Amino acid sequence: MRFLVISLSALLIISVTSVFAAEAAKPVILVGESTQGSLMVGQVAPAASVYLDDEPLKVAENGVIVFGFGRDAELNHTLKVVGANGEVHLESITLEKRDYNIQRINGISKKIMNPNKKNQARSRSDATLVRTARTTDSPRQDFMTGFIQPVEGPVTGVYGSQRFYNGEPKRPHFGVDYAAPVGTPIIAPAPGVVTLVHDDMFYSGGTLLVDHGYGVSSTFIHLSKILVKEGQEIKQGDVIAEVGKSGRATGAHLDWRINWYKVRLDPQLVMKAMPGQVVFDQ
Ligand SMILES: [Zn+2]
Repeated sequence: MRFLVISLSALLIISVTSVFAAEAAKPVILVGESTQGSLMVGQVAPAASVYLDDEPLKVAENGVIVFGFGRDAELNHTLKVVGANGEVHLESITLEKRDYNIQRINGISKKIMNPNKKNQARSRSDATLVRTARTTDSPRQDFMTGFIQPVEGPVTGVYGSQRFYNGEPKRPHFGVDYAAPVGTPIIAPAPGVVTLVHDDMFYSGGTLLVDHGYGVSSTFIHLSKILVKEGQEIKQGDVIAEVGKSGRATGAHLDWRINWYKVRLDPQLVMKAMPGQVVFDQ
Protein backbone atom coordinates (compact mmCIF):
# COMPACT_ATOMS: atom_id res chain seq x y z
CA MET A 1 0.00 0.00 0.00
CA ARG A 2 1.40 3.34 -0.93
CA PHE A 3 -0.87 5.43 1.21
CA LEU A 4 -2.25 5.22 4.69
CA VAL A 5 -5.43 6.52 6.23
CA ILE A 6 -5.39 6.62 10.00
CA SER A 7 -8.36 4.65 11.34
CA LEU A 8 -8.27 2.68 8.13
CA SER A 9 -11.67 2.26 6.64
CA ALA A 10 -12.72 -1.03 5.15
CA LEU A 11 -14.85 0.95 2.77
CA LEU A 12 -11.91 2.67 1.25
CA ILE A 13 -11.60 1.83 -2.38
CA ILE A 14 -8.72 2.59 -4.65
CA SER A 15 -10.36 3.32 -7.89
CA VAL A 16 -7.51 3.85 -10.23
CA THR A 17 -5.99 1.57 -12.77
CA SER A 18 -2.69 2.81 -13.98
CA VAL A 19 -2.39 2.48 -17.71
CA PHE A 20 1.37 2.78 -17.47
CA ALA A 21 1.88 0.98 -14.18
CA ALA A 22 5.07 -0.62 -15.40
CA GLU A 23 6.79 2.72 -15.85
CA ALA A 24 9.18 3.93 -13.23
CA ALA A 25 7.64 7.40 -12.88
CA LYS A 26 5.32 7.98 -9.96
CA PRO A 27 1.70 7.09 -10.63
CA VAL A 28 -1.30 8.86 -9.15
CA ILE A 29 -2.33 7.68 -5.69
CA LEU A 30 -6.00 8.24 -4.90
CA VAL A 31 -8.18 7.96 -1.80
CA GLY A 32 -11.97 7.99 -2.15
CA GLU A 33 -14.82 5.86 -3.38
CA SER A 34 -15.35 5.40 -7.08
CA THR A 35 -18.98 6.37 -7.19
CA GLN A 36 -21.18 9.38 -7.85
CA GLY A 37 -21.11 12.03 -5.09
CA SER A 38 -17.54 11.16 -4.09
CA LEU A 39 -14.59 13.31 -3.01
CA MET A 40 -11.21 12.07 -4.14
CA VAL A 41 -7.86 13.08 -2.74
CA GLY A 42 -4.70 12.13 -4.53
CA GLN A 43 -1.02 12.75 -4.84
CA VAL A 44 1.16 13.17 -7.89
CA ALA A 45 4.75 14.32 -8.36
CA PRO A 46 4.81 17.93 -7.11
CA ALA A 47 5.85 19.46 -10.43
CA ALA A 48 3.28 17.54 -12.47
CA SER A 49 0.30 19.07 -14.25
CA VAL A 50 -3.00 17.26 -13.87
CA TYR A 51 -6.15 17.35 -15.99
CA LEU A 52 -9.49 15.79 -15.09
CA ASP A 53 -11.35 15.18 -18.35
CA ASP A 54 -9.09 17.84 -19.92
CA GLU A 55 -9.87 20.47 -17.26
CA PRO A 56 -6.75 21.53 -15.35
CA LEU A 57 -6.71 20.66 -11.64
CA LYS A 58 -4.72 22.57 -9.05
CA VAL A 59 -1.67 20.70 -7.82
CA ALA A 60 -0.44 21.66 -4.35
CA GLU A 61 3.26 22.17 -3.67
CA ASN A 62 3.35 18.72 -2.05
CA GLY A 63 1.62 17.16 -5.08
CA VAL A 64 -1.78 16.82 -3.41
CA ILE A 65 -4.82 17.03 -5.69
CA VAL A 66 -8.51 16.95 -4.82
CA PHE A 67 -11.65 16.71 -6.92
CA GLY A 68 -15.21 15.48 -6.70
CA PHE A 69 -18.02 13.93 -8.70
CA GLY A 70 -21.62 15.15 -8.56
CA ARG A 71 -24.89 13.29 -8.00
CA ASP A 72 -25.39 12.50 -11.67
CA ALA A 73 -21.76 12.57 -12.81
CA GLU A 74 -20.89 10.60 -15.92
CA LEU A 75 -19.33 7.27 -15.09
CA ASN A 76 -16.11 7.34 -17.11
CA HIS A 77 -13.35 9.85 -16.43
CA THR A 78 -9.72 10.28 -17.32
CA LEU A 79 -7.03 11.82 -15.18
CA LYS A 80 -4.06 12.96 -17.23
CA VAL A 81 -0.82 13.54 -15.37
CA VAL A 82 1.98 15.30 -17.23
CA GLY A 83 5.33 15.03 -15.46
CA ALA A 84 7.89 17.83 -15.38
CA ASN A 85 9.79 15.91 -18.07
CA GLY A 86 6.72 15.86 -20.31
CA GLU A 87 5.94 12.20 -19.68
CA VAL A 88 2.17 11.60 -19.85
CA HIS A 89 0.24 9.16 -17.64
CA LEU A 90 -3.42 8.42 -18.20
CA GLU A 91 -5.48 7.03 -15.34
CA SER A 92 -9.03 5.92 -15.95
CA ILE A 93 -11.61 6.35 -13.22
CA THR A 94 -14.84 4.41 -13.53
CA LEU A 95 -17.65 5.41 -11.19
CA GLU A 96 -20.41 3.20 -9.94
CA LYS A 97 -23.90 4.45 -10.71
CA ARG A 98 -26.06 5.14 -7.65
CA ASP A 99 -29.77 4.86 -7.04
CA TYR A 100 -31.33 7.71 -5.10
CA ASN A 101 -34.50 7.59 -3.09
CA ILE A 102 -37.59 9.72 -3.35
CA GLN A 103 -39.16 11.56 -0.42
CA ARG A 104 -42.62 13.10 -0.35
CA ILE A 105 -43.11 16.01 2.01
CA ASN A 106 -46.47 17.66 2.44
CA GLY A 107 -47.68 20.64 4.39
CA ILE A 108 -45.12 23.15 3.08
CA SER A 109 -46.63 26.60 3.47
CA LYS A 110 -47.84 28.58 0.44
CA LYS A 111 -45.42 31.37 1.27
CA ILE A 112 -42.54 28.94 0.76
CA MET A 113 -44.02 27.05 -2.21
CA ASN A 114 -44.90 30.20 -4.15
CA PRO A 115 -42.57 32.93 -2.92
CA ASN A 116 -43.68 36.46 -3.75
CA LYS A 117 -41.48 38.89 -5.71
CA LYS A 118 -39.76 40.16 -2.61
CA ASN A 119 -38.94 36.65 -1.41
CA GLN A 120 -37.82 35.58 -4.89
CA ALA A 121 -35.40 38.50 -4.92
CA ARG A 122 -34.27 37.56 -1.43
CA SER A 123 -33.60 33.94 -2.41
CA ARG A 124 -31.68 35.11 -5.50
CA SER A 125 -29.43 37.31 -3.42
CA ASP A 126 -28.97 34.44 -0.89
CA ALA A 127 -27.94 32.15 -3.75
CA THR A 128 -25.35 34.66 -4.96
CA LEU A 129 -23.77 34.87 -1.51
CA VAL A 130 -23.59 31.08 -1.21
CA ARG A 131 -22.22 30.68 -4.74
CA THR A 132 -19.50 33.22 -4.04
CA ALA A 133 -18.51 31.44 -0.81
CA ARG A 134 -18.37 28.11 -2.63
CA THR A 135 -16.01 29.43 -5.29
CA THR A 136 -13.44 30.35 -2.61
CA ASP A 137 -10.11 29.18 -3.94
CA SER A 138 -7.64 28.82 -1.10
CA PRO A 139 -4.46 26.75 -0.75
CA ARG A 140 -5.62 25.30 2.61
CA GLN A 141 -5.39 21.52 2.95
CA ASP A 142 -7.89 21.08 5.78
CA PHE A 143 -9.69 18.33 3.85
CA MET A 144 -6.59 16.14 4.51
CA THR A 145 -7.69 15.95 8.18
CA GLY A 146 -10.68 13.85 7.16
CA PHE A 147 -14.29 14.46 8.19
CA ILE A 148 -16.22 13.62 11.36
CA GLN A 149 -19.96 13.78 11.98
CA PRO A 150 -20.89 17.34 13.05
CA VAL A 151 -23.86 16.48 15.27
CA GLU A 152 -25.39 13.49 17.04
CA GLY A 153 -28.82 12.46 15.84
CA PRO A 154 -30.68 10.11 13.53
CA VAL A 155 -30.24 10.60 9.79
CA THR A 156 -33.56 11.79 8.41
CA GLY A 157 -32.48 12.84 4.92
CA VAL A 158 -29.76 11.63 2.60
CA TYR A 159 -27.77 12.93 -0.35
CA GLY A 160 -29.29 12.67 -3.77
CA SER A 161 -32.83 11.98 -2.69
CA GLN A 162 -35.45 13.88 -4.58
CA ARG A 163 -38.24 15.55 -2.71
CA PHE A 164 -41.77 16.25 -3.79
CA TYR A 165 -43.20 19.19 -1.86
CA ASN A 166 -46.98 19.03 -1.85
CA GLY A 167 -46.65 16.72 -4.85
CA GLU A 168 -44.33 18.99 -6.87
CA PRO A 169 -40.88 17.64 -7.79
CA LYS A 170 -38.05 19.78 -6.41
CA ARG A 171 -34.30 19.86 -6.86
CA PRO A 172 -32.60 16.83 -5.37
CA HIS A 173 -31.51 17.00 -1.75
CA PHE A 174 -27.75 17.46 -1.50
CA GLY A 175 -27.08 17.31 2.22
CA VAL A 176 -27.33 14.78 4.98
CA ASP A 177 -29.98 15.66 7.57
CA TYR A 178 -29.53 14.86 11.25
CA ALA A 179 -32.57 15.38 13.46
CA ALA A 180 -31.69 17.02 16.79
CA PRO A 181 -33.40 19.46 19.14
CA VAL A 182 -33.05 23.20 18.57
CA GLY A 183 -29.91 24.37 20.37
CA THR A 184 -27.92 21.13 19.97
CA PRO A 185 -24.24 22.06 19.44
CA ILE A 186 -22.73 21.46 16.00
CA ILE A 187 -19.01 20.81 15.71
CA ALA A 188 -16.71 21.44 12.76
CA PRO A 189 -16.37 18.17 10.78
CA ALA A 190 -12.96 19.32 9.55
CA PRO A 191 -10.78 22.40 10.12
CA GLY A 192 -11.24 25.43 7.92
CA VAL A 193 -12.01 29.09 7.67
CA VAL A 194 -15.51 30.58 7.87
CA THR A 195 -16.49 32.13 4.53
CA LEU A 196 -20.17 32.96 5.07
CA VAL A 197 -22.41 33.68 8.04
CA HIS A 198 -26.05 34.59 7.39
CA ASP A 199 -28.72 34.57 10.09
CA ASP A 200 -31.80 34.28 7.95
CA MET A 201 -31.76 33.12 4.34
CA PHE A 202 -35.16 32.58 2.75
CA TYR A 203 -34.85 28.83 2.11
CA SER A 204 -31.96 27.80 4.33
CA GLY A 205 -32.46 30.07 7.37
CA GLY A 206 -29.32 30.39 9.49
CA THR A 207 -26.56 29.50 7.02
CA LEU A 208 -22.84 28.90 7.56
CA LEU A 209 -20.11 28.01 5.07
CA VAL A 210 -16.62 26.77 5.92
CA ASP A 211 -13.77 26.52 3.41
CA HIS A 212 -11.58 23.39 3.76
CA GLY A 213 -9.28 24.35 0.90
CA TYR A 214 -8.87 23.72 -2.84
CA GLY A 215 -12.59 24.25 -3.44
CA VAL A 216 -13.75 21.81 -0.74
CA SER A 217 -16.30 23.43 1.58
CA SER A 218 -19.03 22.57 4.05
CA THR A 219 -22.46 24.18 4.23
CA PHE A 220 -24.62 24.06 7.39
CA ILE A 221 -28.23 25.22 7.17
CA HIS A 222 -31.45 25.76 9.18
CA LEU A 223 -29.28 26.88 12.13
CA SER A 224 -30.73 28.62 15.18
CA LYS A 225 -27.44 30.20 16.20
CA ILE A 226 -24.05 30.70 14.56
CA LEU A 227 -21.12 30.96 16.98
CA VAL A 228 -18.32 31.92 14.57
CA LYS A 229 -17.51 34.94 12.41
CA GLU A 230 -16.54 35.28 8.76
CA GLY A 231 -12.78 34.96 8.38
CA GLN A 232 -12.42 32.96 11.59
CA GLU A 233 -10.18 29.89 11.53
CA ILE A 234 -11.69 26.83 13.15
CA LYS A 235 -10.32 23.46 14.21
CA GLN A 236 -11.97 20.08 13.76
CA GLY A 237 -14.35 19.55 16.71
CA ASP A 238 -14.84 23.23 17.56
CA VAL A 239 -18.46 24.11 18.36
CA ILE A 240 -19.50 26.40 15.49
CA ALA A 241 -23.31 26.62 15.58
CA GLU A 242 -26.54 25.25 17.04
CA VAL A 243 -29.25 23.18 15.39
CA GLY A 244 -32.41 25.02 14.41
CA LYS A 245 -35.44 24.84 12.16
CA SER A 246 -35.05 28.18 10.39
CA GLY A 247 -35.93 28.72 6.71
CA ARG A 248 -37.68 25.95 4.81
CA ALA A 249 -37.40 23.27 7.47
CA THR A 250 -40.19 20.96 8.54
CA GLY A 251 -38.59 20.30 11.92
CA ALA A 252 -35.40 20.87 13.90
CA HIS A 253 -32.42 19.34 12.11
CA LEU A 254 -28.97 20.03 10.73
CA ASP A 255 -28.56 19.83 6.96
CA TRP A 256 -24.82 19.44 6.26
CA ARG A 257 -23.43 19.59 2.74
CA ILE A 258 -19.98 19.13 1.25
CA ASN A 259 -19.06 20.90 -1.97
CA TRP A 260 -16.14 20.83 -4.37
CA TYR A 261 -16.60 24.29 -5.89
CA LYS A 262 -20.06 24.09 -7.48
CA VAL A 263 -20.17 20.27 -7.39
CA ARG A 264 -22.29 18.82 -4.57
CA LEU A 265 -20.81 15.78 -2.81
CA ASP A 266 -22.21 13.19 -0.41
CA PRO A 267 -21.07 13.96 3.17
CA GLN A 268 -21.75 10.39 4.38
CA LEU A 269 -19.63 8.97 1.58
CA VAL A 270 -16.83 11.44 2.30
CA MET A 271 -16.84 10.62 6.04
CA LYS A 272 -16.62 6.88 5.29
CA ALA A 273 -13.77 7.26 2.82
CA MET A 274 -11.83 9.84 4.86
CA PRO A 275 -12.57 9.32 8.56
CA GLY A 276 -9.09 10.45 9.62
CA GLN A 277 -5.93 12.12 8.42
CA VAL A 278 -4.97 11.20 4.88
CA VAL A 279 -1.22 10.54 4.82
CA PHE A 280 0.76 9.81 1.69
CA ASP A 281 4.07 8.14 2.37
CA GLN A 282 6.09 10.26 -0.04
ZN1 LIG B 1 -31.93 18.74 4.37
